[in-house]
Amino acid sequence: MKLLVLSGDGIGPEIMRENLRVLDVLNNKLALGIDIVQRDIGLKALKVFSSTFPEEVLRLAKVVDAVVLGPVSTFEYPRVEDGGVSPSATLRIELDLYANIRPNYTRENVPSLVKYMDMLIVRENTEGFYADRNMFLGSGEFMPTKDLALSVRKISRSGSRRIAFKAFEISMRRRKKVTIVHKANVLKMTDGLFLEEANDVASNFPEIEVESLIVDAATAHIIRRPAEFDVLLTSNMYGDILSDEAAELSGGLGLGGSINIGDRYGIAQAAHGSAPDIAGKGIANPVALMLSTALLLDWLGETHRRDDLKSASKKYNDAINAVLLESANHTADLGGKQSTKKFGDAVVTQINK
Ligand code: NAD
Repeated sequence: MKLLVLSGDGIGPEIMRENLRVLDVLNNKLALGIDIVQRDIGLKALKVFSSTFPEEVLRLAKVVDAVVLGPVSTFEYPRVEDGGVSPSATLRIELDLYANIRPNYTRENVPSLVKYMDMLIVRENTEGFYADRNMFLGSGEFMPTKDLALSVRKISRSGSRRIAFKAFEISMRRRKKVTIVHKANVLKMTDGLFLEEANDVASNFPEIEVESLIVDAATAHIIRRPAEFDVLLTSNMYGDILSDEAAELSGGLGLGGSINIGDRYGIAQAAHGSAPDIAGKGIANPVALMLSTALLLDWLGETHRRDDLKSASKKYNDAINAVLLESANHTADLGGKQSTKKFGDAVVTQINK
């Protein structure tokens, strides 16, 4: 089993180091047979290869079993013509990673803005407002004149249908409730299509309770009654925004685990960005990337029918949550003083117990 590891920018290398240390322990302890291949991407790769996402890395991503991707500083990248290629966008499109799965839940002894929640956002990952990836050729954003900028949002019937199936299938393994989030009151054609397909898919799952919410109201409902949500199904940008909100309510962005999956490929990638404000200080929370990697191990176990990978995932998850039970292990974002490295040490110790 080969994993391609791309540390990314900002806090990426710091949190990836700890993640790899834990992965190495799991690999040896459970004889998983995982081979790690690492490559530079982002601003480091730009200096050497004149591209933030060299072609060779994409080729490798297509032949390995899965990818673990650190956060990337896309906002700092130059224009595409000057080598600023978004690794996230390229991988999501080239590997057809149409589903972004983002669970968020409260934990005992982790300070959170809400008392209890256990929700999972299923976000369409290849269309919507994302102009850098929603066209076959060219960009969905363009400027007819120097004072006019336009952006095209894409919603397709097939794209809406496949993400809806993913959400309902996942909910069957959880509490059997799906909330469809849209803005079909205004975007009657695009979100109308998304809603129509989601409702049609829902008719295949009569045992699942279905509710639909308009996205602006959804932001309020998530704060007002977080415990009532199970799976939330939505399009690309709404999902991106709502998942940051959900992560923050559950304790913070540093806890936001996430995977991008399609029918063949899978990538672990934390929900947060490269956090340039704290990069290099050794204080970033590695939990989101660790949880993402645990989610990926579970997905690999499911797709390759390997119980050892599934138990590695559970072991990793349980160890993270056990370590989080102690306030002394909390990093600064959770109100603590623990360093990224010491958090990694604690997870390794927990796994070796
Ligand atoms: P961000 O998620 O990087 O940071 C937002 C806030 O959360 C910051 O205060 C940061 O310090 C904090 N934070 C985030 N992750 C943390 C962690 N693991 N531990 C502790 N604190 C953490 O969002 P931003 O500042 O808007 O974006 C910074 C860069 O990241 C930009 O270049 C943006 O384009 C990029 N970005 C990348 C991704 C991705 O790689 N998937 C996602 C979002 C943003």
